[in-house]
Amino acid sequence: MSYYREIKKNDKQIKKLFLERVKKERSCWIWKGSTTAEGHGQISLGFATLKAHRLSYLLYKGELAAGKRIFQTCENKLCVNPKHQRILVSKKEQKKLEGSKNTQGSNNGNSKLRPKDIQKIRKLAKNHSIVQIATRFDVSSAQIGRILSGKNWSHV
Ligand SMILES: [Zn+2]
Repeated sequence: MSYYREIKKNDKQIKKLFLERVKKERSCWIWKGSTTAEGHGQISLGFATLKAHRLSYLLYKGELAAGKRIFQTCENKLCVNPKHQRILVSKKEQKKLEGSKNTQGSNNGNSKLRPKDIQKIRKLAKNHSIVQIATRFDVSSAQIGRILSGKNWSHV
């Protein structure tokens, strides 16, 4: 993805466009621009459309390899405070992203989830990312994805 090379840390022009769409609150910076279907901020820069929190990372922290996932520590999808954006790096976090391959509801011995968790997860999905939910329940994001797509637990 070439746009990662087009955005330099502290790029004045892009930073201006970015900050015009941000409302800084006590701790979070709330995105006021357009959003993606999943509820993340996004911005069109002519050559590419970027997620606002990823752009924040590029502008304030610098390089971000394509494909690297960013975790929002404040759990607010619209927050673009660079201090709240963290690349997933630890082994535990990586493991969650990769997920386990064979889970089938609570019949699977590895599943920590109970039927009442499934309902909670579906509710949380409205304003939280899959990674955030996976972290909260300490399961893989793949598992959460299967729950939300109805592949697992569709009976609940
Ligand atoms: Zn925040």
